[in-house]
Amino acid sequence: MPIMPGAKLGLLGGGQLGRLFTMAAHYLGYKVIVLDSSPDSPAGHVADRFICADYENSHALEVLSNECAAITTEFENIPAESLRKLAETCVVSPDADSVSIAQNRIAEKQFLAANGFAIAPFEIIGEAGEILETHSTELFPGILKVSQFGYDGKGQRHVKNQAQLEAAFDDLGKATCVLEQLMPLVSEISVIVARGTDGALETFPVAENQHVNGILDISIVPARIPQELIQQAQYLASKVAQKLDYQGVLCVEFFVLEDGQLLINEIAPRPHNSGHYSIDACVTSQFEQQVRILCGMPLGNTTLHSAVVMVNLLGDLWHTGEPDWPFVLQQSSTKLHLYGKTEARPGRKMGHFTVLDETTDKALSKALKIKRQLEQQIKP
Ligand code: ATP
Ligand code: MG
Repeated sequence: MPIMPGAKLGLLGGGQLGRLFTMAAHYLGYKVIVLDSSPDSPAGHVADRFICADYENSHALEVLSNECAAITTEFENIPAESLRKLAETCVVSPDADSVSIAQNRIAEKQFLAANGFAIAPFEIIGEAGEILETHSTELFPGILKVSQFGYDGKGQRHVKNQAQLEAAFDDLGKATCVLEQLMPLVSEISVIVARGTDGALETFPVAENQHVNGILDISIVPARIPQELIQQAQYLASKVAQKLDYQGVLCVEFFVLEDGQLLINEIAPRPHNSGHYSIDACVTSQFEQQVRILCGMPLGNTTLHSAVVMVNLLGDLWHTGEPDWPFVLQQSSTKLHLYGKTEARPGRKMGHFTVLDETTDKALSKALKIKRQLEQQIKP
């Protein structure tokens, strides 16, 4: 039986992804209760009720399971145990097993490799709190990544040799890490997959992603890669969702190599920054799909109705004060999204804008002009 509008949905995590989920839920007439440990929560600001507590807080979890018809997450570092506990009495998606795989780089890589998905060569470093010898020097130059809690390129160090590896490992607090070979990428792409409780599956158009300092900067959609690669990426992303028996919205990030090979970089058990374009450019957004799946409703159509470019707005842009929003809003076919965060720190995701146009090239050149203009304003 589907959960009907009017019901309360629970959300673990109160960041911008949760805020956009909450707004999508409101469009469909649902109410949302948000749980987050930080009082200044972008999702909490728009929720029907905000509970400020840890994700393990048994009282908070009890309130959610008593009041909500179904519960989801917007943050992969939710303790899988909390999801398991909630699932005893409540509909929960995605499930704890999928989240626990996606939240740990080692489990994630082992799952992908065991199921035949191509990934970058890697080794586990320091599992027992000390550095394990690398079996081959072929992984240098490489990237040392903490196995848990990394995001936006945080918890990562580029290393060229064993000495640098040891220094980087110390610098990362001797946490268990993976050392990944630095791959010669021609581009990066991602696919958002929505998979319902009945196994119904919809993939979104493929996004081409450009990162700066490990943080997503721009997504260009449709990706400027051959049609075969588009289909292959959508096929692989669907297979990942099926192998996990995943229910919910999943993002699969890929590296594209020179010879056209696709490697899976990582997966995220939730909507993703690289899918934000879907709010303005698709019939159904990634957030609406998350609501539909959670409520056991039919999936929406993911057709792209316009070429689109999404640009992230980081806190750096606030360096000399509030950016010139009237300038952004006066651009035709441009949509501005701000997350209501009160403190603009460098590197913090404060919002994004999307530019729609007939072709990705047109949308891209317009988006870059707007971006450059905003960046000009913070130059001394
Ligand atoms: P997020 O969760 O925000 O996507 P993250 O902190 O989990 O980011 P990754 O996706 O692992 O980080 O890496 C961030 C970026 O660093 C990648 O999108 C890519 O640009 C670059 N990168 C990571 N690993 C490699 C690699 N093995 N070879 C080349 N580039 C890499
Ligand atoms: Mg990533």
